[in-house]
Amino acid sequence: MSMSGNTKVFGIIGNPVSHSLSPVFQNYFLEQAGIDAIYAPFCVRECDVVRALGGLWAAGVEGINVTVPHKEAVLGQVEADADAMCIGAVNTIKRHAAGWRGTNTDWRGFRDVLHGMKMEVSGTEVLMFGAGGSARAVLHALARERVRKVSICNRSEGRLHAFIRHAGDVYPELAVATVAWKQAAVSATCDRVALTVNTTSIGLGGKGDHSPFRLSGDGVVLDAVYAQNGHTAFVCAAEQAGCKAMDGLPMLLAQGVSSFCYWHRIEPTRITVLRWLEARLGREPADLPGWEKVYEVHTTG
Ligand code: NDP
Repeated sequence: MSMSGNTKVFGIIGNPVSHSLSPVFQNYFLEQAGIDAIYAPFCVRECDVVRALGGLWAAGVEGINVTVPHKEAVLGQVEADADAMCIGAVNTIKRHAAGWRGTNTDWRGFRDVLHGMKMEVSGTEVLMFGAGGSARAVLHALARERVRKVSICNRSEGRLHAFIRHAGDVYPELAVATVAWKQAAVSATCDRVALTVNTTSIGLGGKGDHSPFRLSGDGVVLDAVYAQNGHTAFVCAAEQAGCKAMDGLPMLLAQGVSSFCYWHRIEPTRITVLRWLEARLGREPADLPGWEKVYEVHTTG
């Protein structure tokens, strides 16, 4: 990587941020596209978010990804687009003359994985575990894909009910239901849905984390959490039930592609970068036939 006085700076803020894979693939995208820029991690404490945004802007930084725990706080500090406003969180910002503009690409990452798996979810019911920030992004994607009903299962009832209110306010056309945090209720729902999504952070801890429930049925299981070897707690539970399953690596990569596009108007080829990343992590290739239709790096809109 060579730098000059003209090298542009992009990055990610979060706390912690050292585990993030975004610098790995964003720098790869930059190199592949021949753009004179770098992408760096910035660990920012919650109490410093506003100052950090001002400082990064003043220093001429061009674009930033925002990760846990800052996505909601940053929304209030930027000119956010309609998708980010619906979700209530921002994960990508870019500079403009007077400050930052923001969007949310997490929902696009999830949607692109559904398309990559060639899953048609329109008119179906989906079971979703979790009611936090990523659940809102997944819900937005499911609503945009015209899912008929989302059944939501979350450990704490307070957050579950707040989430149900949010869903009713923002997506009145979507049916939402609660599923008790109990094996019997989970099994009954699992058995009838074609798609189950985990958006809880269970499995983030790596070894020793187990799915709180046995899974069943013949649907697909998608986990937002990723593990180096792909075997997260929910992926393992899905495989024990004989279900097709995928961890959050393709979603993470797809949201990164979408962020890159937001900044540079260039769309890296998802499948090429995914295969590069999988080889780097030493894991099996994910089955995403919808991404196999290979395009060369091209300029969008
Ligand atoms: P939040 O903190 O907003 O929400 C966390 C959710 O996990 C809550 O529903 C919480 O339930 C639940 N939870 C946490 N610990 C447990 C536990 N031990 N048992 C049961 N439930 C638990 O986090 P986010 O929604 O932002 O992120 C969740 C996960 O999604 C993270 O691991 C993150 O890495 C991943 N993610 C992946 C992305 C990708 O591109 N692949 C994009 C965004 C996120 P409760 O209300 O009961 O506390």
